[in-house]
Amino acid sequence: MSTRRDFLKRSLILTASGLFLGQRDSAASPTFVQSSDDKQSKLKPPPDLFDAQALDMDFWLKPRTIDWTRPASGERLKLLYWKDGEILGSAYEQCCEILRDIHADKTARIDPKLIETLWATQAFINQLGMTKPLELLSGYRTPESNQRLREEGIPAARKSLHMDGKAADFRIANLHEEVLGELVQSFRQGGVGFYFRASKQGGWIHADTGLKRSWQG
Ligand SMILES: [Zn+2]
Repeated sequence: MSTRRDFLKRSLILTASGLFLGQRDSAASPTFVQSSDDKQSKLKPPPDLFDAQALDMDFWLKPRTIDWTRPASGERLKLLYWKDGEILGSAYEQCCEILRDIHADKTARIDPKLIETLWATQAFINQLGMTKPLELLSGYRTPESNQRLREEGIPAARKSLHMDGKAADFRIANLHEEVLGELVQSFRQGGVGFYFRASKQGGWIHADTGLKRSWQG
């Protein structure tokens, strides 16, 4: 049995999948963004497709699987982390581990709300047929590591929520930072920073569980 609403939703999802697959669909061209320095495609679907407030309860109640990589260390974490309303203890430990301060090799308690935001962002995108892992660029930072980044001129706030295990920087390959950031914002969980960069890999998104705010860095 299929309602009209389900039909519309399915059509939207198919359209979005088409956009992600590249230039096969000429209708995608008005929203197609290609960087000048390489052949990498960056696709920008209509923003209203990426509103997390449109999600149904089923999305939140089903068992949750994450697929994260940490490019700096080559680690990959792919596992069921939440089921029947609870975070699985050993999976939580592994989430904290992959979100550790790699430079200082220190692990901290990561805010479960942050883990949920990271999971939900990726799960939302998976629903549209995109299965790339979430690339974690930064998670917990010791005060020393945070200070070092500041000295190196890398964007880091003096009282960064990274030091409280409440922030992460990440990207998803081939997904434009603006689309990714707007999606994260639509979960209304905290702060979102947009870091646009012209390099081959593009920029990244900062998400935290602090006050709801957004900025471009
Ligand atoms: Zn950050």
